[in-house]
Amino acid sequence: MMEGLGMRMTCLGSGSSGNCYLLEAADGVLMLEAGVRFNEVKKALRFKISGIVGCLVTHEHKDHSKSLKDVIGCGIRVLALDEVFQSQGIANRAFCKSIEPMHGYKVGGFKVFAFPVAHDVPCVGFMIEHEEMGKLLFVTDTMMLEYRIPSLNHVMLEANYADDILQYNIDHGIVPNAMRDRLLHSHMELQTAKGVIRANDMAGVNEVILIHLSGNNSDAGRFEREISEVSGKPTYIAMAGMTIDLSKTPF
Ligand SMILES: [Zn+2]
Ligand SMILES: [Zn+2]
Repeated sequence: MMEGLGMRMTCLGSGSSGNCYLLEAADGVLMLEAGVRFNEVKKALRFKISGIVGCLVTHEHKDHSKSLKDVIGCGIRVLALDEVFQSQGIANRAFCKSIEPMHGYKVGGFKVFAFPVAHDVPCVGFMIEHEEMGKLLFVTDTMMLEYRIPSLNHVMLEANYADDILQYNIDHGIVPNAMRDRLLHSHMELQTAKGVIRANDMAGVNEVILIHLSGNNSDAGRFEREISEVSGKPTYIAMAGMTIDLSKTPF
């Protein structure tokens, strides 16, 4: 992108098969999650990976971290909880930046603030700021969000499952009964996602991007419709290959 041309978000994967998003600005690219093969990142950037200023990883699950070693091996600084590096035996190495919840970090032209969320392993959400983008809330793999973040411009929020779809699937033997308990304590239900939207000031938000939908227990069309009704903003479902303009003033 050219100087001053804003911010572009490209999704390379969203959901349990692998998560990765690229925030591309003129002064650098920020990777969000390392859960797809690094070759996919290279291809998306037409092999100009020198523009990557850093990579944020929310937690140790492989759908968020499977290419961690390749990313570090390419000399890209990764910011993640200690547990993420330890889970792959690469703690305290060059390019590994252990982060702490409720702390802020600078990654190229991006300002990042990490906060704890409620998953079944230690996990963080991120508030990410860039002068071309404004303020982005990035929250995935959590049963809830207890923070209200002021003056947001963009929201990327997990909407993993709907309780009624999950119940139908359990009743019909499509998913095991035990999945209910796991999801309840680790992933965001549609009504909870609506609560997050209602609890936060949407006045300055350009769009809501729903991420990490369950393959079985979600309904993309319904999720998009119900969240856009609550948010009053254009709402998108993240899918591999999609690009969305996240510039502060897109028009
Ligand atoms: Zn996940
Ligand atoms: Zn997870």
